[in-house]
Amino acid sequence: MSIVTRHLFGPGPTNPYPEATEGLARPLLGHLDPAFIEIMDETCDRLRQAWGTSNARTLPLSATGSAGMEAAFVNTVHPGDVVVVAVNGLFGQRMCDVAARCGAEVVAVEHPWGSPVDPERVLAAHPSPAIVAAVHAETSTGVRSDIAALGEAVRSATDALLVVDAVTSIGGLELRADEWGIDVGYAGTQKCLGVAPGLAPFTIGERAFARRVERPQSWYLDLGLLGGYVGEAGAKAGGSGGRTYHHTAPVAMVSSLHAGLGRVLDEGLENVWARHAAAGAALQDGLEAMGLELFAEKGSRLPDLTTVRVPDGVDSAAVRRTLLERYDIEIGAGVGEFASSVWRIGLMGPNARPAAVRLILGALSEALDEARGGSASGD
Ligand SMILES: *Cc1c(COP(=O)(O)O)cnc(C)c1O
Repeated sequence: MSIVTRHLFGPGPTNPYPEATEGLARPLLGHLDPAFIEIMDETCDRLRQAWGTSNARTLPLSATGSAGMEAAFVNTVHPGDVVVVAVNGLFGQRMCDVAARCGAEVVAVEHPWGSPVDPERVLAAHPSPAIVAAVHAETSTGVRSDIAALGEAVRSATDALLVVDAVTSIGGLELRADEWGIDVGYAGTQKCLGVAPGLAPFTIGERAFARRVERPQSWYLDLGLLGGYVGEAGAKAGGSGGRTYHHTAPVAMVSSLHAGLGRVLDEGLENVWARHAAAGAALQDGLEAMGLELFAEKGSRLPDLTTVRVPDGVDSAAVRRTLLERYDIEIGAGVGEFASSVWRIGLMGPNARPAAVRLILGALSEALDEARGGSASGD
């Protein structure tokens, strides 16, 4: 198959920022080369800005977003701990599975798919949980939950740690980890940060780190050991070169993330959020103008990931195939029981712009006409 440039308008990965792609192509450095250590340190600084945190322990884990989820729970769940998980989609369900495997007594607070998390219901689920966990941007349903409100509720009523999945929010929508009381957060690179998949931006505050599991089951994701990898040990010893070998840093991916974050911060976080908000609103207006029905609850729709109902009688997979084969456009199917009744359209990172909105609306309109038996265009 010849290599073409796809328009990645699905739930991730998105097309990377050009700066991120250039970062991948730089001459490879050794993972303990001082020049790379500088890049790693700057990457951690840039991640602190993207997270809205001053947490010293903020780093890119060497694996995708799901490893961030694993790291969050494997380092904080002591056997038998009650973990209350707000579930309003696939990733909340995955949190339950991961936390249970870490030995948690999981209390899942189920919400209808398409609705945001309700802090009151989450709080009512248990009087004294060790951890409360929620997904900020549910990519499976296109819903944004109010983490500021959840954080405030959790802080005011319990001593629980707040674990938040920010995979589809970081670099795309307002995220203020410290202000919102997020104790542990994990994210991914391939969604709004506009970098290829492969790293999990991670942050953990002092309170959570102090309560961590001393010798977690996972050696690779042990945050105690990872401190040396990003230089915490060196900083403490007051020396340079205090970096210890834990695993080989994915040098090219870190360089790419460094460059992608540089691009995002140059544009300005608030500008980037506004750009995603504008693109999402234009897409959602355009879809409704075409007579399509949006899936996520009004008022809680993600700008960067739009869920839209497949019209009755239209073959969901056939439309996606037409988009891919004729227009080089990828969009996502739905998830779970909505697999064939919902499409998921992402406008993330460099794709959050008017040209992408026009492209997807035009192509979808033609593909829909064809699916409904109208005249085929193209061939
Ligand atoms: C994509 C995603 C994940 C998983 O990340 P991977 O990089 O696929 O491992 C977790 N949570 C949310 C909300 C996501 O969108």
